[in-house]
Amino acid sequence: MKFNPVIEHLKTYEPGKPIELVVRDFGIDPADIVKLASNENPHGCSPKAVEAVRNSAHLMFRYPDDTMTELKQALSAHFDVSGEELVIGAGSDQIIEFACRAKLYGGAKILQSDITFAMYQIYAAQCGATVIKSPGIAHDLDAMYRLYQEHAPEIIFICAPNNPTGDCLDRVDIENFVERIDEDTLVVVDGAYQEYAAFKDSCKAIEPKNLVEKFPHVLYLGTFSKAYGLGGMRVGYGIARREIIRSLYKLRPPFNVTTLSLVAAETALGDQHFVQRTLADCFAEMEHYKNFAEEQGIRTIESYTNFITYVLDGIADSTKLADALLQRGVIVRDLKGYGLNAIRITIGKTDENQRFFDTMKQLLNSGTK
Ligand SMILES: *Cc1c(COP(=O)(O)O)cnc(C)c1O
Repeated sequence: MKFNPVIEHLKTYEPGKPIELVVRDFGIDPADIVKLASNENPHGCSPKAVEAVRNSAHLMFRYPDDTMTELKQALSAHFDVSGEELVIGAGSDQIIEFACRAKLYGGAKILQSDITFAMYQIYAAQCGATVIKSPGIAHDLDAMYRLYQEHAPEIIFICAPNNPTGDCLDRVDIENFVERIDEDTLVVVDGAYQEYAAFKDSCKAIEPKNLVEKFPHVLYLGTFSKAYGLGGMRVGYGIARREIIRSLYKLRPPFNVTTLSLVAAETALGDQHFVQRTLADCFAEMEHYKNFAEEQGIRTIESYTNFITYVLDGIADSTKLADALLQRGVIVRDLKGYGLNAIRITIGKTDENQRFFDTMKQLLNSGTK
């Protein structure tokens, strides 16, 4: 069968391995598996969200409220923006897809940093667009600006903090960059881990309201999948000027967010106490990861997220190490596919982190290279 030539060369996104697969492949008891691979919240989500979903379960026969009024009002209040400056998607992934379809076509271009969230280039390639990458392990805004001048891309993606490295640009640097970009180029600022960054360092904190007030060509993205612990519910949002939101809305399939997901997200947003505890715990646990790395001579990248990247040059081969960890029931993310000899570990609960340290120690001492 012939398919659209655009999809022939597409890569399929490789998600972190689900626990079920490790159970099947290695015969490990599910209770002995530690999943530190998908940047999920190890504490789950707000118990209030679970309760609200339970109480709404009987509504699943109905189509969702397609106006999403309640979640929109909650987000409007939280970010001090108007409902017309908001679009809600099945994960912020879906907003990335809307943005690509709104701006891209065969022969169009996107600009991104070399090592960043994989979905930008996947959606861009689906639209037949070319991907321009600025070199280096971190976002290099000067190099990006030069590439912007050379290639005139339709979209520029900035991931702050960046996945899969964990580092984060300063807000002023992002603003000074966006200032120099013409208003016909869409600048997507992906804030999937902004709650973490803002908690750790106010220089990294982005207020979507300020960004959108200053710039007519910025689309800010947020998600309920990370700090709010609702990855399984698929809820994310975009914040931008009305003109951008109106265009994205034309691409939105009706009922793109389920009834129970809307309930979960709205309730989770109302439980900021849970989020604050999540953030405090994450950075407390991260200290152990830094100490462990230092003991083992492993280089880390300063992280403003709920994960940490171990650079393994001179220590081990990241693929072999990730596989060996997997066989022992510890799931982490190998970054070899990004061109890095590194692994990305999601910060888990204390006992999960200890499992990781113990297993790593065993492997490194036994000469897994
Ligand atoms: C997790 C993540 C997202 C989106 O996740 P959704 O579950 O689709 O909301 C977007 N960007 C980055 C950088 C992420 O890590």
